[in-house]
Amino acid sequence: MPSTGGKAQAYVSEPGRSSRRWAIEIEIVGIAGQNRGHLAERTASVMQKEQGLNEHTLSQRLERVAANVPASARLADIGSDHGYLPVALMLRGAIEFAVAGEVAQTPFHSAQRKVRKNGLEQRIAVRLADGLAAIEAGDRIDVVSLCGMGGETMCEIFERGKNHLAGSERLIMQPNGGEQELRTWLMNNGYRIEHEEVLRENRFDYEIIVAVPAADVAYTPQQLLFGPRLMEQRSEAFLGKWRRVLRQRQQTLAHFEHAQEVPQAKARLFSKQVEWITQLLAGA
Ligand code: SAM
Repeated sequence: MPSTGGKAQAYVSEPGRSSRRWAIEIEIVGIAGQNRGHLAERTASVMQKEQGLNEHTLSQRLERVAANVPASARLADIGSDHGYLPVALMLRGAIEFAVAGEVAQTPFHSAQRKVRKNGLEQRIAVRLADGLAAIEAGDRIDVVSLCGMGGETMCEIFERGKNHLAGSERLIMQPNGGEQELRTWLMNNGYRIEHEEVLRENRFDYEIIVAVPAADVAYTPQQLLFGPRLMEQRSEAFLGKWRRVLRQRQQTLAHFEHAQEVPQAKARLFSKQVEWITQLLAGA
């Protein structure tokens, strides 16, 4: 396992959290880039199970995603894992039809079992497929959800699967990191960010981004980082998230001052972010 760094040590010393959760968090904090996304995906799934959540009782995170699915939607939930989201929405009578897409065998079979157990085989199609390839033309999907995976992974899924979209779908995303990359992909591919929210659950900050097709979409670099709707709302959860990120960035930059070798590109990026976050928090 790669080095975990000082922040992970600080996590370890904090009481009141399960050792399993710690182990996962330490891994995530210590690993950069794309690998981090994969671990974040695993964390969401493990935590969902550990908390005893299921198709009847969703996590707050998935409840907020559910709240953004319009009534009577035809939903494709990509990376559905156990299929909790589509099954819960169907049991509540909130949606008309769903596809639960999964690329991995174990969660695919788990989703199949959940759908069968609830007698929903006629209303939810569980498909083993890579990303948007789970969607078939006859499904008449109007909402696509991607939750609990890294924003970079979501961009790859959208990029590879563009031809499976009709072009009118509402996209509901809950990325675990990589929000800036995801917003950039949305802007560059003709999506306007209609709604955003931040929630904090189990000491993680989760962002939910809802996007709809639109012409002439342009966001500033700050809007891509912070979220255009989130910047307007300035909710306490949003400001709290960025206060924490600011502290982390400042700690890292202070650490760089004593380091023998400084990753220059990262130092420049973090310095710029500190400037922008400070302006954001000052209300500028
Ligand atoms: N969406 C659920 C949630 O938010 O609780 C499950 C999140 S789980 C951590 C991420 C899931 O995405 C995993 O089950 C993984 O197998 C699946 N996944 C990752 N890449 C995928 C892809 N390209 N196509 C379909 N599923 C994928």
